[in-house]
Amino acid sequence: MRDDITLGPGKEFDLVRALEERWGDAAHGIGDDAALIDVPAGHQLVVSADSAVDGVHFRRDWLTPREIGWRVAAAALSDLAAMAADPLAMLVSLSIPDAWLGDILDLADGLADAARATAAHIVGGDLTGARELCIAITVLGAAVNPLRRNGARPGDLLYVTGRFGGPLAAFTAWQGGGRPSPADRDRVAHPVPRMRESRWLAERGAHAAIDVSDGLLSDAAHIAAASHVRLAIALDHLPTLGGLSPDTAARSGDEYELLVASPRDIDTAGFERRFELPLTAIGRVEAGDADVVATLHGARVAPGGGFDHFS
Ligand SMILES: [Mg+2]
Repeated sequence: MRDDITLGPGKEFDLVRALEERWGDAAHGIGDDAALIDVPAGHQLVVSADSAVDGVHFRRDWLTPREIGWRVAAAALSDLAAMAADPLAMLVSLSIPDAWLGDILDLADGLADAARATAAHIVGGDLTGARELCIAITVLGAAVNPLRRNGARPGDLLYVTGRFGGPLAAFTAWQGGGRPSPADRDRVAHPVPRMRESRWLAERGAHAAIDVSDGLLSDAAHIAAASHVRLAIALDHLPTLGGLSPDTAARSGDEYELLVASPRDIDTAGFERRFELPLTAIGRVEAGDADVVATLHGARVAPGGGFDHFS
């Protein structure tokens, strides 16, 4: 009955089969009522959900369907990186309008690219029709010593991975009717969840972390609030892209870089050799009211300013 090519469950089933074929070894275990996940002994299960909506989180005229798939999966997986968790699996729920049906397998390729890159197999999900494309991804990971936002202590040093500002520069170019530079565009089309980097940092003593999704200064405020500490950040050496000044780059969201706190010096040169990515000391944690005090050339810069969907 379900193989009948008619409306309803048959059509959905055909799409599931097409997705499974397209995903190949990036997916496994799809098809039962629920997925079974082995969690290594002694680990905690680390779970996070993330969703992205056409016109809110991405624009079809800015990115290819495959890039959109990668980007949404990478953003979800970045939350596992922030916790220094090893990826186990992901669940993919797609709400698909008719206008997207012709591109959905290309978008699925991007999801599979991210699944393969991080060994987070696609193990299930859900499909539904909708008026707007919505991609909802649940990621599952495992960690022995997860990095949390509440682990920062006075005296810690603060470090960030990567270069900031690319997404803001790219979105600004697109919104102005122009085209971003390839480097800035790549930061939107192909953000990389810093999985190996976060485990490396945790092994060397980092004990608090967050991934930068709303903006460096906004996300720093989450660590300050959770850890009940003041974060003193000097932006002078923040590596930037897009020709942005560090205080502007510190408000760029969708970076998916890491901000970590460590009680010990971390070998930044060793990190850069290992990952071909900058690791930059940007400040320290102080006792005091939960707050972020950011400076550039010795002058205080305004806090926050990142992206907030509900502001
Ligand atoms: Mg996050």
